[in-house]
Amino acid sequence: MDHDVIVIGGGYAGLSAGALLAHKGYRVLLLEKSRSLGGRASYQERDGYTVEYGLHDNRFASEGAAAAVFRRLGREIEFLEPGDPELYRDGRFYPLPNSVGKIFRSPLLPPRAKLSAARYLVMLVAGNPARKYQVSLEEITSRCRSPETLELLRVLSGIGIIAPDLRYSSAGEMAAFLRKALRSKVKVGYPKGGTRQIIEGLREEVERNGQIMTSARVTRLFLRKGTVNQVKTESAAYTAHAVISAIPVQEVPDLFAGKDLPIKFVKKARELVPTAGITLDLGLKEKVSEKKGLLVTSDPVTMGQFTSNIDPGMAPEGKQLLSWYYPLPLPWMKNSEKVDREERHLRDILQDMFPGIWEAVEWERVMRLNMVDGFLPRPGQTKEDRPEFTIPSIDNFFLCGDTTGAEGTGGDTAFNSALRVSEMVDAYLKGRKEEV
Ligand SMILES: Cc1cc2nc3c(=O)[nH]c(=O)nc-3n(C[C@H](O)[C@H](O)[C@H](O)COP(=O)(O)OP(=O)(O)OC[C@H]3O[C@@H](n4cnc5c(N)ncnc54)[C@H](O)[C@@H]3O)c2cc1C
Repeated sequence: MDHDVIVIGGGYAGLSAGALLAHKGYRVLLLEKSRSLGGRASYQERDGYTVEYGLHDNRFASEGAAAAVFRRLGREIEFLEPGDPELYRDGRFYPLPNSVGKIFRSPLLPPRAKLSAARYLVMLVAGNPARKYQVSLEEITSRCRSPETLELLRVLSGIGIIAPDLRYSSAGEMAAFLRKALRSKVKVGYPKGGTRQIIEGLREEVERNGQIMTSARVTRLFLRKGTVNQVKTESAAYTAHAVISAIPVQEVPDLFAGKDLPIKFVKKARELVPTAGITLDLGLKEKVSEKKGLLVTSDPVTMGQFTSNIDPGMAPEGKQLLSWYYPLPLPWMKNSEKVDREERHLRDILQDMFPGIWEAVEWERVMRLNMVDGFLPRPGQTKEDRPEFTIPSIDNFFLCGDTTGAEGTGGDTAFNSALRVSEMVDAYLKGRKEEV
């Protein structure tokens, strides 16, 4: 065999799994189709700005999933603490009431709404989240008559698990997020230098004991006697004892040309609905705001931050970098007129928030994305519903990434899946050695 492990995909998940296995001494080959690494968390340099692939924060900072991967590698991520989150409403910013204490202090909520909002948060946090997986937040709040409470829940579900529509937000997934948030001292962190710090740290670790090939798209996996015995790219073929797919599961059936996989898995993988929406990154030639925290609107739910106010190194001196995200339902993304309208709306919101912002724009990048996080955490797509890390009929094939059943949403799922899969692959390879 050419390698111990082949990893397909060089996003957060593939790089983490590759790094964790290389750290254990395995010979890793990582194949990435793009010219650069990072996938949906990649970054690029642009006229002195470090531009990430949209707004990227790390939930729970040093207590979160990326930090756990780095700790296992004997490394640390240097996190910067953003300011407190703020909600923009009626022309003003208010502290976001994202805890029971803040709810009672918030000028945004009338007394009855304070009681009901606090009650829903406590109700969500109490008990086992798994019991509420298949219940939507809309069902849980069906008797709620307070529009302010419902607005707050939309915002919290929007920023916490990227599910601002209560119909499509699993109460159990939200509860799991809130419980973790309650336990963590720091709620969110921004890695110094942005996602670059994470991507480059993982790249170094993979390359200590393995190889990374970019511009290497895997086109086909071949099976023999229930194991993947060949990984083909456009220009070469490779073999390894174990193969990890760290691409979105929606695309995995294509690697097998629609054959060889259990129908149940194919259906589940293909039907998994991601989060989607518009991202807007602005390079600003002058300072527009001093705000350092996550800024949120509630109608519609959108969110953004001045990344360069958290880490001044992200923009040239005297300039600013702003990243904004407007989550939209995936079906809307097919309707370009509708998305045009929402994009105009977002631009108006920013103009209202920061009058004159559009005159300060040096460059802008708008992306209309059909996949932001790998899954929308709605009932039917929860931790217990998403594809697992193995496919029963294939011995040496493992699935990793933010579309699997690992804990959390977005990047957290990607990192958590890598922690799990690297252990499973280690056990598999050790077992193989013993058999031989
Ligand atoms: C705009 C935006 C904002 C986000 N904000 C946050 C945030 O603030 N916090 C957070 O936790 N998460 C956030 N996320 C989500 C986070 O970026 C993703 O969850 C994470 O990057 C997914 O990593 P992954 O490795 O599972 O998948 P990917 O990043 O999709 O990696 C898959 C890799 O596989 C490669 N690939 C695909 N097919 C092949 C093939 N056939 N052969 C070889 N290579 C292949 C791709 O090019 C890609 O590099 C955001 C995402 C976006 C898009």
